[in-house]
Amino acid sequence: LRILGIETSCDETAASVVVRHPDGRGEILSDVVLSQLEEHSAFGGVVPEIAARAHVEALDGLIQEALEQAKVSLPEIDAVAATSGPGLIGGLIVGLMTGKAIARVTNKPLFAINHLEGHALTARLTDGLPFPYLMLLVSGGHTQLILVRGVGEYERWGTTIDDALGEAFDKTAKLLGLPYPGGPAVERAALKGDPDRFKLPRPLVGEARLDFSFSGLKTAVRQAATEIAPLSDQDVADICASFQKAVSRTLQDRIGRGLARFRGEYADVDVQPALVVAGGVAANDEIRRTLQALCIEHGFRFIAPPMRLCTDNAAMIAWAGLERMAAELPSDPLDVQPRSRWPLDMSAQTMLGSGK
Ligand code: ATP
Ligand code: MG
Ligand code: FE
Repeated sequence: LRILGIETSCDETAASVVVRHPDGRGEILSDVVLSQLEEHSAFGGVVPEIAARAHVEALDGLIQEALEQAKVSLPEIDAVAATSGPGLIGGLIVGLMTGKAIARVTNKPLFAINHLEGHALTARLTDGLPFPYLMLLVSGGHTQLILVRGVGEYERWGTTIDDALGEAFDKTAKLLGLPYPGGPAVERAALKGDPDRFKLPRPLVGEARLDFSFSGLKTAVRQAATEIAPLSDQDVADICASFQKAVSRTLQDRIGRGLARFRGEYADVDVQPALVVAGGVAANDEIRRTLQALCIEHGFRFIAPPMRLCTDNAAMIAWAGLERMAAELPSDPLDVQPRSRWPLDMSAQTMLGSGK
């Protein structure tokens, strides 16, 4: 089975062709991603209107490229999968409408894919990971700990109650005068910093529920920065290192609890439990090392797919469509709507017509 995937939910326009072999193995035939980073960097964040227009301009060409690289023509595609939420509505409309048009003219089924499902199932494409497992998604728009029980069976165990972790990195960078995107800039600065100079808060640490909160951390960074302004390069480095340490300690506590809960719920399963990370923040070395150490401590496998597949791409959307087909889940009607908000544990159909 061959499927065309389309992703336009945020600031990456992407198209991909993925095949699922009879033995269940997935193979990426093409995976084209066009980042809009440059269009947005002057604004210090993603501007929805600019993003939507950039998707319109790029998508047709990218789909063409993905088909050419995969050496398949449209009629040879067995299905179309397009991200239909959550994300910026303008971009979602562009991608989903294009997917619908292709499905219509080729008379092939359309799968309206939840972007988070794409991230959640990637480890099965890259590592053939069996269910169940835990997935930590840490990106610019999401911070979620998700139990992945099966295709279409997801339980959100924790989420951020305010800022996403990537957003906290971006805002911290902005406060300190570092460039956008903030994550790589903060990480670089932190290398030369003293992580113990500033005592920043560790939100929700010690609490039983598995949620996250990062806005207090950002406020504390602002306070520290104002108190010692003007900032020297060393000050900036020390704040970044202290920020990263606070983040790592917070994740250590939150995720540690999640791993323990998973162990408790699946005590009778004898495959080794696994934690998968996804999202741009997974590029952070200190965070990676923290999660890895935590997994070793709890006897978990630690799976970090290649960065290209951790950040936004269309191969994961295509793969989610293939997983849905293999699980014999129904395709979606052509009047399916894009959703800017769409919790992973609700189907596209359930959400139809249910308002914002
Ligand atoms: P979505 O949330 O919809 O998946 P996104 O485009 O916001 O989309 P990604 O592209 O996965 O998310 O990740 C971008 C985020 O990752 C940014 O907030 C960026 O600062 C952060 N990031 C990237 N590299 C690093 C790093 N080395 N350390 C920390 N954060 C990083
Ligand atoms: Mg992005
Ligand atoms: Fe994403």
